[in-house]
Amino acid sequence: MPVKYRCRHCETEIGTLPFDADDTIRKLHLFEVGEVDDYIEKNERGDTTVHCICEHCEDSLRQFPDYYALKKWLQ
Ligand SMILES: [Zn+2]
Repeated sequence: MPVKYRCRHCETEIGTLPFDADDTIRKLHLFEVGEVDDYIEKNERGDTTVHCICEHCEDSLRQFPDYYALKKWLQ
């Protein structure tokens, strides 16, 4: 199953891994975020979506950390 990368802030699709890299992703993200299940979503068809952050939002986050913290709480 392909693994999609989607920005958790602006919903932009960042990219797709054309193979089932679920285990690899879990290992990679485990060190970064801890709560992997908050970031990796599986739908009923078995598709995996990884919610990460795109370059655009990462830049904005650095410039306006308060805005993104607020938006996260509201969602
Ligand atoms: Zn984004």
